[in-house]
Amino acid sequence: MTIYKNLIAGEWVGLDATKNINPSDTNEVVGLYADGTTEDTKNAIAAAKAAFPAWSRSGIWERHVILKKAGDEIMARKDELGALLAREEGKTLPEAIGETIRASQIFEFFAGEALRLAGEVIPSVRPNIGVEITRDPLGVIGIITPWNFPIAIPAWKIAPALCYGNTVVFKPAELVPGCSWAIVDILHRAGLPKGVLNLVMGKGSVVGQAMLDSPDVTGITFTGSTGTGRRVAAASIEHNRKFQLEMGGKNPMVVLDDADLTVAVEAAANSGFFSTGQRCTASSRLIVTEGIHDKFVAALTEKLQALVVDNAMKPGTHIGPVVDERQLKTDTDYIEIGRKEGAKLAFGGELITRETPGFYLQPTLFTEATNQMRISREEIFGPVVSVIRVKDYEEALATANDTPFGLSAGIATTSLKHATHFKRNSEAGMVMVNLPTAGVDFHVPFGGRKGSSYGPREQGKYAAEFYTSVKTAYTLA
Ligand code: ADP
Repeated sequence: MTIYKNLIAGEWVGLDATKNINPSDTNEVVGLYADGTTEDTKNAIAAAKAAFPAWSRSGIWERHVILKKAGDEIMARKDELGALLAREEGKTLPEAIGETIRASQIFEFFAGEALRLAGEVIPSVRPNIGVEITRDPLGVIGIITPWNFPIAIPAWKIAPALCYGNTVVFKPAELVPGCSWAIVDILHRAGLPKGVLNLVMGKGSVVGQAMLDSPDVTGITFTGSTGTGRRVAAASIEHNRKFQLEMGGKNPMVVLDDADLTVAVEAAANSGFFSTGQRCTASSRLIVTEGIHDKFVAALTEKLQALVVDNAMKPGTHIGPVVDERQLKTDTDYIEIGRKEGAKLAFGGELITRETPGFYLQPTLFTEATNQMRISREEIFGPVVSVIRVKDYEEALATANDTPFGLSAGIATTSLKHATHFKRNSEAGMVMVNLPTAGVDFHVPFGGRKGSSYGPREQGKYAAEFYTSVKTAYTLA
């Protein structure tokens, strides 16, 4: 089998490789991907540092053309790349193709942004002096990504980093190197000068750690677990480096008595269970008022019964497998914890066997949960959702906000008053009315508050806040 290698200083390198396994069919090896070393990472950082002066001064048309070419190729290959994504991560083929399209759109968006770079010219408070405010690129950006969005998250970090004139060392998650390799190959062939984008696949404890430890990495953008996020923060403060973190969520969806039941059930089923519940924006707490509680639970349970859990590549599958054995164990451990804490297992909770050997778990719904239980406070990152019964809107809002996290929050209601109040008072970075908490646009800010995020928002034009440094220049006229 060919080894997909790391890209360092414009050369494909790497001798040791790790198997990329399909979670829908553990007999299938998706590919062999290079296992980067500390030395590789140091070389990649040195290459990115050497490439920075020229790339930071490159023409905006050159950046536009390369990003646009990449976006176009990803779109043209959406079915093939979507299939690769579904095979390595386990989300269903339609979800995977959708994510691939989104990655293409992100590159198209930042291809446009490259042509819209601008500053401000402002009069000084002193006579005969002009003030210019411009944005400089940061330098070498370290990009560390998780496994749950194997193409979209790399895209939404790589595209703005390059657009604003930075060079990159990119370390994808161990479980899903395939899509990352593919987009780096696409960008390399699109004409990026050598060293501008370096790919170092490998272990977090080796490659990721070498990035954290390097004084030459000027900024790190990270999406992943809270624990690793804290390490990124601590190491970055030590190096006086800019950093941006996207971590967990325990996103609430409030369902009020006046909700349209169909809308509420659709939104809850989608954001709780699609993509196997493995989205940081997934709704894992359904906070439901008394008047609609029983009807809502009955309708949601009926909906869950109809969902097909199977191989991600099989037509008709609604929910693919859990990503790997370790995550499956986390999910089943939490199911056990929920039972012991006294929540009622209303649906699911069992492993399932399918034609192909994989990590299949039933969508799992707990009812009679409280907001104090561990299943309601800790991020599980699987298809496990709890229903919390509340008296009224006020209690629902307080419960929704009573969490260490603050990424996304939703409400299902037909009341303009409550929807408006919720949008204003939710302590989350993203608020959804009558929509799933997961599923966001590619051209507007993404991010949260409290334990979910740190630093400037990602995506859309707000991405510039992280990937650039503002400069104020004064000139005596
Ligand atoms: P998960 O447990 O969901 O895989 P992680 O936070 O461990 O979440 O992984 C997110 C990303 O962080 C991955 O690319 C992983 O390799 C990387 N990572 C893990 N440990 C470290 C570390 N010590 N330093 C830097 N990156 C790391």
